[in-house]
Amino acid sequence: MTEPFDAVSVIRTKRDRGRIPDAEIDWVIDAYTRGVVADEQMSALAMAILLNGMQPAELSRWTDAMIASGERLDLSGVHRPTTDKHSTGGVGDKITLALAPLVAACGAAVPQLSGRGLGHTGGTLDKLESIPGWRAELSNTDFINQLNSVGAVVCAAGDGLAPADKKLYALRDVTGTVEAIPLIASSIMSKKIAEGASALVLDVKVGTGAFMKNLADARTLAETMVALGTAAGSHTVALLTDMNTPLGRTAGNALEVAESVEVLAGGGPPDVIELTVSLAIEMLAGVGITDIDPAAALADGRAMDVWRAMIAAQGGDPDAALPVATDKQVLSAPSTGTLTRLDAYAVGVAAWRLGAGRARKEDPVSAGAGVVMLAKPGDTVTAGQPLLELHTDDTGRFERALQALDGAFDIGPADGYSAQPLLLGRVTA
Ligand code: URA
Repeated sequence: MTEPFDAVSVIRTKRDRGRIPDAEIDWVIDAYTRGVVADEQMSALAMAILLNGMQPAELSRWTDAMIASGERLDLSGVHRPTTDKHSTGGVGDKITLALAPLVAACGAAVPQLSGRGLGHTGGTLDKLESIPGWRAELSNTDFINQLNSVGAVVCAAGDGLAPADKKLYALRDVTGTVEAIPLIASSIMSKKIAEGASALVLDVKVGTGAFMKNLADARTLAETMVALGTAAGSHTVALLTDMNTPLGRTAGNALEVAESVEVLAGGGPPDVIELTVSLAIEMLAGVGITDIDPAAALADGRAMDVWRAMIAAQGGDPDAALPVATDKQVLSAPSTGTLTRLDAYAVGVAAWRLGAGRARKEDPVSAGAGVVMLAKPGDTVTAGQPLLELHTDDTGRFERALQALDGAFDIGPADGYSAQPLLLGRVTA
């Protein structure tokens, strides 16, 4: 086949800060997916985009081309309004587990295609796979049937959804171009738009444990994604939320499932409850459901009923005991005072090194490994009191996990602590 354009001239356009014409965008994404544009050429283009950015219309076309590289889900057979959430990723971010059944309990359908974790943030599928019997793969028919019968599905995204992104994301990972805001925005939104929910809520994390380290960058990313979602006809809203401190009291697969079940049982840590309810309100409002209070549905067990049905529908046993790591070590408070800081990134790396995460895509994860936070910022602690509990199946992992936690927290006078809000902003079209 004769190619209508050549990659070098597309790269030169972006290198020289130009706008890539629509037809060339369509071609370069398609030709890269077909293997005609080489990895080294796409790397150069990704770096030029990182350095020189993209104009809004250019990015919108780029995102459309990524969507067109694969299939779009057809949710027309779902009888309830569809609404979804995406988090840009954080430590202890188990929110989807209680949120999906909660929103379904309030009358919407949640078609959530999730991924596995890579690096210091955990993946939702890894967490759910710690439940005995639960499986992440569903056929399209089972997916739609479960949305109609249960109202919520969390499952693996098939290979057919935005295959251009799969290739480009792996390339960005090894070429220092993950951080480009237009590339993050188009990567996330191409998959979410292809998924086809009527409404989408984005949880854009800000802080040490997140992609975006400062509020200004997080806001730019949120605005970029909201514009893309809106242009695609989806009701899209973003919340900016803190990720300097881990969410809740656990980081690690089965540990996070257990904590989510506590939330579904009407208990659990206040930050997890606050974020779950805030996101539920946004997801429901996006499809016009404003007369049901998600906080009540969480507290009175309606969300728990949907959770049990959702897990059972995918082969899981909601009553089965969760895997527990074989070994535990405690990290104690070195002094008395108030815990004024507990760093999300350090806790995430420690959990990862204990076996909760993977270094390469094909690595297995340990279901029981992770970190339990026995104190959170604002708590008073006494010298010698256990602060963090490290769980692993391999005692050889403790040393490097402890190294990650070196300098991860501060204990000081009570007046040295001021509570930081969890919700930092809201972005709409
Ligand atoms: N998640 C994605 O899916 N893509 C990115 O580029 C970053 C986070």
